Amino acid sequence: MNKRAFIRLFAAVIASPVISPLLAWASKNKLKNWAGNLEYSTDRLYSANSVEQVRSYVKKHSKLKVLGTRHCFNNIADSTHNLLSMKSMDEVVALEPEAHTVTVDAGMTYGQLCPYLHSKGFALHNLASLPHISIAGACSTATHGSGEKNGNLATAVSALELVTAAGEVVNLSRHQDGEAFQGAVVGLGSLGVITKVTLDIQRAFIVRQHVYENLPLAEVKDHFDAIESSAYSISLFTNWQKQLVSEVWIKSRVEEGQAFDATPEFFGAKLATKNLHPIAELSAENCTEQMGVPGPWYERLPHFRMGFTPSAGKELQSEYFVPRQHAVEAILAVERLRGHVSPHLMISEIRTIAADNLWLSPCYEQPSVSIHFTWKQDWPAVSKLLPLIEKELAPFRARPHWGKLFTVSPTELKSIYRRLPDFIQLSKKYDPQGKFRNEFLSANVFSG
Ligand SMILES: Cc1cc2nc3c(=O)[nH]c(=O)nc-3n(C[C@H](O)[C@H](O)[C@H](O)COP(=O)(O)OP(=O)(O)OC[C@H]3O[C@@H](n4cnc5c(N)ncnc54)[C@H](O)[C@@H]3O)c2cc1C
Repeated sequence: MNKRAFIRLFAAVIASPVISPLLAWASKNKLKNWAGNLEYSTDRLYSANSVEQVRSYVKKHSKLKVLGTRHCFNNIADSTHNLLSMKSMDEVVALEPEAHTVTVDAGMTYGQLCPYLHSKGFALHNLASLPHISIAGACSTATHGSGEKNGNLATAVSALELVTAAGEVVNLSRHQDGEAFQGAVVGLGSLGVITKVTLDIQRAFIVRQHVYENLPLAEVKDHFDAIESSAYSISLFTNWQKQLVSEVWIKSRVEEGQAFDATPEFFGAKLATKNLHPIAELSAENCTEQMGVPGPWYERLPHFRMGFTPSAGKELQSEYFVPRQHAVEAILAVERLRGHVSPHLMISEIRTIAADNLWLSPCYEQPSVSIHFTWKQDWPAVSKLLPLIEKELAPFRARPHWGKLFTVSPTELKSIYRRLPDFIQLSKKYDPQGKFRNEFLSANVFSG
């Protein structure tokens, strides 16, 4: 289904006064995820317009899954029974400057929230590579941006409103619910339907973005910490060819003590003379402004602009998080696989993320480095490659991104996500019968 048809169908739903079945999807028009590599297993998609509608829908159905903006590459959001969309619940509920928080409906995307926040003089601490994703869906899988002092996007969540399997409304907050809250934020959609999210905000800030080309891998090896600490957010892009990081994206805050001095050379890399796409051959038209032009935080922190197709489009993605202290070893381990990796790769991205205390976050209690792969859309080939990469990264107890493709076994997941048993107990409290579980969750989280 193309984007226009998807929007048209949702527009029809929004106009409807009650929860609407979207049974109109003919088999030739099956609902797919953003990348198109996954066809959802049911066309029973309903859209809720209010918390009351969510409650009554949840009470009526024994099995369902909430669908966000469909940007996951695996079947974490899939259901063979029923899909519930919150897309039409996308308002700002409350901006509370004194508490430094904003509360939004769960269907809102970062692309919708950020210009509003900026117009009121506020900002979020960080953003992912694209603003098109729903806030609830992104936080549910611990989506992240870059910056060694920046936690993933879920770390900004200070409270959640959740409809449980029984149809009850539960409020969880960082201040009042301690451990249960830390377990619930990266919830993989398995605790209930998130209906509202409260996020920490700060004063709006201005960011400049500079890009450098051809950073020698030897410099990364010798100066990783200096490179990563040189600005607010650093992304290293490489296709693992020629022992080079092809592009270094540097996002710096224009504030005293934080501004980045854009010298013509950066650890041997050369300052770019025009805007670039992370995949150098592609047009930079859909990328955020570079060349040091100052701009609002939300127009520089993502790599891709709202209103354009982010990334490459027809692609697959995988990503692994390793403890920060093993960054260089892990990068070199992947580099040794370049002969296997490169033929199937569009681009890799290396980012840093601060530690957090969210149970299922890949950065749980460890400052992390993530190694990301944007693959050509060839699952048979990629599915053979992932075990090779996972084997090389196993000594670092690499944790896979929940929303991307991986082949790590459920047993291994239990060992590397050590709060999984606690998470299972927490899920049972809000969803004793497994109403919100699907094949992905049953296999990877609740098995054994
Ligand atoms: C082009 C592209 C770029 C990306 N860039 C990044 C990046 O920079 N960093 C990164 O970490 N990831 C990135 N991702 C991955 C993506 O951001 C995450 O996988 C994210 O979860 C997608 O959010 P979504 O709303 O589309 O989720 P969906 O795929 O729709 O759902 C994800 C999960 O959230 C649950 N969920 C959604 N809404 C609710 C709700 N209201 N209540 C309960 N559960 C809910 C679903 O049930 C499911 O389990 C990228 C993906 C794409 C396609």
